[in-house]
Amino acid sequence: MQGLIKEMEHYAQENNVPIIQKESIVYIMKYIKEHNIKSILEIGSAIGYSAILMASVSDDIKLTTIERDQTRYMECLKNIKKSEMEKKITVLYQDALEVNLTGVSYDLIFIDAAKGQNINFFEKYKNFLNEGGTIITDNMDFHGMVGKSSEIESKNLRELVQKIENYIEYLKNNDEFNTEFLSIGDGLSVSTRKED
Ligand code: SAH
Ligand code: MG
Repeated sequence: MQGLIKEMEHYAQENNVPIIQKESIVYIMKYIKEHNIKSILEIGSAIGYSAILMASVSDDIKLTTIERDQTRYMECLKNIKKSEMEKKITVLYQDALEVNLTGVSYDLIFIDAAKGQNINFFEKYKNFLNEGGTIITDNMDFHGMVGKSSEIESKNLRELVQKIENYIEYLKNNDEFNTEFLSIGDGLSVSTRKED
């Protein structure tokens, strides 16, 4: 397992795959353990790095992860096979905004896909969150650029960072969820449903 993790980190480095930072996945794994989380949905598998680590926290975790890029999906399947967690992890090769889920719900939803779509992912997938469940989103600082979008010259990048800034506002103003923003790794947000 440790060998596979190292191998995936190396592959990610070589092929510019933006896997989660160590500090962030360590935080999430601890969260999973402390909150006794058993069912997880991940939006954005890439090569399966975060999926494999999250699923490794305990034997009775089930995780579904969604990836729309074919090369990464194939690499993800390969890595899950190597991890011997095929029974625990399901990979869907699809755009997460087009997936049709029925009759399922999750203790934890981890959003780590196209950063400009976070509000759409949140709005869609909050309906599949168990009572007392949590939505965690990665890259909330986006390499330190969030909060400074007006200084960014490239239009595409500026618009992307603005979308993350809008997502922060959306979370702050959300009547249904409480959100904590953590300066861990590239920034994490942790949203839990308010109790009424
Ligand atoms: N969670 C991974 C990293 C994911 S990188 C890890 O930490 O190990 C983000 C991934 O999201 C990319 O592989 C990208 O192809 C995928 N992605 C982006 N938008 C998506 C969408 N709408 N549906 C499914 N996958 C998406
Ligand atoms: Mg990420």
